[in-house]
Amino acid sequence: MAEKRKFKKRHCKYCEAKVEFIDYKDIKSYKYSLSERYKIMPRRLTGNCKKHQDMVAEAIKRARQVALVPYVVSRKEVVASPFDEI
Ligand SMILES: [Zn+2]
Repeated sequence: MAEKRKFKKRHCKYCEAKVEFIDYKDIKSYKYSLSERYKIMPRRLTGNCKKHQDMVAEAIKRARQVALVPYVVSRKEVVASPFDEI
C-alpha cells in the first residue's frame, strides 16, 4: 500500500455505540469526525454510515455557528488531534 491508512474502513462508531442523535454541544461525540484542521472527515475515511455522517455534519455545522468549532484554522493553529485536551 502506497499510503498508510489512518482509519480502518467500514466501521460506524455511532452504530456500534447505538447513537440515535448527535448533540452539537457534545464535542466529544463528533471529534473523531473532524480533521486536524477542524474539517468534517469524509465518510470514506471514518467509515461512518450515511445516516450518522449526515447527523455529524449537521452537528458540526451547528457547532460552528455557536463557535464551538472554528470555520477556518490558520497554519500555526493546526493541532495533531482536535480537542485532545478535553
Ligand atoms: Zn451509523
